[in-house]
Amino acid sequence: MKVVKTIDEVRAQVKAWRAQGLSVGLVPTMGYLHEGHASLIDASHKDNDRTVVSDFVNPMQFGPSEDLESYPRDLERDSALVKAHGGDLIFNPEPEEMYHEGFSSFVDMTILTEELCGLSRPIHFRGVCTVVSKLFNIVKPDRAYFGKKDAQQLAVIRHMVDDLNMDIEIVGCPIVREPDGLAKSSRNTYLNDEGRKAALVLSRAILAGADMVRNGEKSSKAVTDRMKQIIECEPLAKIDYVKLVDAKTMQQIPMIDRDALCAIAVYIGKTRLIDNFFTEDVK
Ligand code: AMP
Repeated sequence: MKVVKTIDEVRAQVKAWRAQGLSVGLVPTMGYLHEGHASLIDASHKDNDRTVVSDFVNPMQFGPSEDLESYPRDLERDSALVKAHGGDLIFNPEPEEMYHEGFSSFVDMTILTEELCGLSRPIHFRGVCTVVSKLFNIVKPDRAYFGKKDAQQLAVIRHMVDDLNMDIEIVGCPIVREPDGLAKSSRNTYLNDEGRKAALVLSRAILAGADMVRNGEKSSKAVTDRMKQIIECEPLAKIDYVKLVDAKTMQQIPMIDRDALCAIAVYIGKTRLIDNFFTEDVK
């Protein structure tokens, strides 16, 4: 397992693999890896001869008042995890390697980014689409792996690949949770003991919403109202959104009459956490 810092080194390694006829999977991450990331690396290791993990806190997807500076980083720990899960190469560039002076090209998306996290984080998906496009061009993988934890991101990437005719298979992987239900996230490290307990309100709301859908509830409002009620019982929690949207277009729907995504974003103190379920997974 190698760690490289430059685009040239990634290209040289992938070229050597390609010369041997090997397939390549890519797992894009912002590092501080946990079992959620590990599940993507496992999936890539299973499907491909070689796996590249990018480990890059992408400044372009953070808004001015967000946590770019405080975002946790630990390359040594990440390397051990990637190695243990069969990854072959970590790409850990400095921001200047990805965004040279005079950088001025962006990949932007309308419609799918107008709801959910796109509303509260207006420049976020432009940063995500731009960096993921760059990583696709650098690594040229056969497959790329994304978690359903970031459900809107997964939908946006699928749409981008389709719109821009990128010849890459996008694989969506299930949410990995802590034993008590909290979705694993690098941002969970921001929570103190009290916040960690309060954060369970997200998975409680998700479970309750999923149960209603499983039992045949078709009204989006009935489901989201019940989930809001649960979250509002927790004094440390402040709702950003609780919404039901079309699973492909990410537009809100009044009735659950197609594949849908139920997504929530909740502040626990200053920490913004997300969770969700796809209706197709609760049938
Ligand atoms: P991040 O490092 O937070 O940008 O995440 C990198 C990738 O890991 C994204 O595709 C995430 O959706 C995925 N991921 C993060 N947390 C989880 C989780 N708990 N379960 C599954 N995938 C996850």
